[in-house]
Amino acid sequence: MKISMISEHASPLAALGGVDAGGQNVHVAALSSALARRGHRVTVYTRRDAPGLPARVQVHPRLEVVHVDAGPAEQVPKDELLPFMGELADGVVQDWGHSPPHVVHGHFWMSGVAALDAARREPGGFRVPVVQTFHALGTVKRRHQGAADTSPAERRFLEPSVGRSADRIVATCSDEVFELRAMGIDTRRVSIAPCGVDLDLFSSEGPADATSRFHRILSVGRLVPRKGVDLVIRALPYLLNAGFDDLELLIVGGGADAGGQDPEARRLLDLARELGVAGHVELRGQVPRDAMPGIFRSADAVVCTPWYEPFGIVPLEAMACGVPVVAAAVGGLTDSVVDRGTGLHVPPKDPEAIADALGTLLASPDLRTKLGQAGERRAKARYSWSRVAAETEKAYQLAIAGTADAGSMEPMEGAAL
Ligand code: UDP
Repeated sequence: MKISMISEHASPLAALGGVDAGGQNVHVAALSSALARRGHRVTVYTRRDAPGLPARVQVHPRLEVVHVDAGPAEQVPKDELLPFMGELADGVVQDWGHSPPHVVHGHFWMSGVAALDAARREPGGFRVPVVQTFHALGTVKRRHQGAADTSPAERRFLEPSVGRSADRIVATCSDEVFELRAMGIDTRRVSIAPCGVDLDLFSSEGPADATSRFHRILSVGRLVPRKGVDLVIRALPYLLNAGFDDLELLIVGGGADAGGQDPEARRLLDLARELGVAGHVELRGQVPRDAMPGIFRSADAVVCTPWYEPFGIVPLEAMACGVPVVAAAVGGLTDSVVDRGTGLHVPPKDPEAIADALGTLLASPDLRTKLGQAGERRAKARYSWSRVAAETEKAYQLAIAGTADAGSMEPMEGAAL
């Protein structure tokens, strides 16, 4: 197949851990590579966010990334990108020329707007089927963030409209399917394909980051309030009172200067000082991807306690490295982490429950080993990117078949299966 992906803010080539660069970048990079390895020709379109970026980057013989001029060639917060989606669609359609793809896959609601816009122009007289992955839903974000949600107002009607208009939706977890239904979307058009984990990079075999003499609890992710890192800091006094005083909480993620300028980093450090636990907390800042497996392997437990989580790749990475996960029972974490199987679930926003779960793991090396090994097996069995790509491919085939059933015109030359 000839496949186009649109990922307006999340370039597969970007560094991870900044405010707007996280799981979606990993997902688009890994899924596009896995599809290319399966023999498909994949082009990922993303917005040019720096002047010096080349127009096209060949990542693999069958995979390229195209930087489209859409808005200023500089970093723009993702919630301010909507006005540029028309230009992004223009660039995509221009690149398609008379040889449109068999399918276009939008990542995040705004890319869905651009994908539908491009597809409706029927390049080469062909209605390109649209597949959509939301990654995060505005309804869920509003429910949890209220007035702090900086999404543009148009998201309220454009996101459901993308959901209703796309030929097929790929949800990343079962919880998302319920949310889509609540948005009024016909779930017969929904497939589930989770995020995956790079099993070549993340495994229990290999050296561990050796900077810890203590029990290490690890938190990894973008430093934004909804990731709930403050809840883990609030759990520390309970653990220290319970006698676990040889522990450190290592926090990875945030801007390159997480210890200084990053406002969320400052907030977390202030909280740790206020609670008298600053001596047990280290903020490492943004860590390059290649260094992540060693950091996971150095941890006794990984803790992921977001307020909500559309999917959450970090728990999969931890599991693949053989480390048990304490996870809030929200969103994708209810699918990926098996309570008492590969980790422990805790209710959302509950520092005492986090402390209890971490205490249970810290007290029992046998339990940590058992849950860690089961996590590694689960990651390998269910979350390889090749398996995720195969499931995504099925969704593409259903979208193509559905569009053909609806009587659309035949693909032009270059778009033949
Ligand atoms: N990550 C990283 N370096 C960092 C912080 C995060 O490589 O300093 C990676 C992390 O390993 C994971 C991704 O960023 O692959 C975060 O994905 P997740 O789905 O957990 O969260 P999101 O950022 O999408 O909300």
